[in-house]
Amino acid sequence: MKIAVYPGTFDPVTLGHIDIIRRGAHLVDKLVIGVTTNPSKEPMFAVVDRLAMVKREVAGIAGQIEVVEFDSLLMDFAESQGATAILRGLRAVADFEYEFQMAGMNQKLNENIETVFLMADVSLQPIASKLVKEIARFGGSIDKFVPPAVAEDVRRHLISGSR
Ligand code: ADP
Repeated sequence: MKIAVYPGTFDPVTLGHIDIIRRGAHLVDKLVIGVTTNPSKEPMFAVVDRLAMVKREVAGIAGQIEVVEFDSLLMDFAESQGATAILRGLRAVADFEYEFQMAGMNQKLNENIETVFLMADVSLQPIASKLVKEIARFGGSIDKFVPPAVAEDVRRHLISGSR
């Protein structure tokens, strides 16, 4: 059984992430979406909320998909899940430097787990969670970048007065 892990912060999950998940789920027998706690990024949403959002949004996607929280070293997490691949999305040039470095170091940590890069649909390439949050904080519409229920979650979160 081919298992891949797709790790990320998903703060919040965007249409770009969903597209990568759909493509990834086609490629493997089981896709494990690893939602990092990542306190260093000071996420807008707590990990429990991000987990619930991702679970809700992938519910309709074909294939075996699991959504799991993790706060360990990525390669340890991947190994514990029985994965042979790490899935990452690659956007134009912006992601390259960081992803190249991370894949290279992860290769050194575990030669048996391969990093695989997928490209989202061209129309979804510019989407980034960070910009979605910025637009929403300034009152802009994020409806073209995230699923409808996520746009609602972000609006509700901002109205409730937290970050
Ligand atoms: P991280 O905190 O690791 O950057 P993110 O939640 O931002 O995690 O993203 C997880 C993965 O999804 C990363 O590989 C990122 O490059 C990819 N990704 C995010 N947005 C897009 C997009 N619009 N198109 C393609 N890949 C994307």
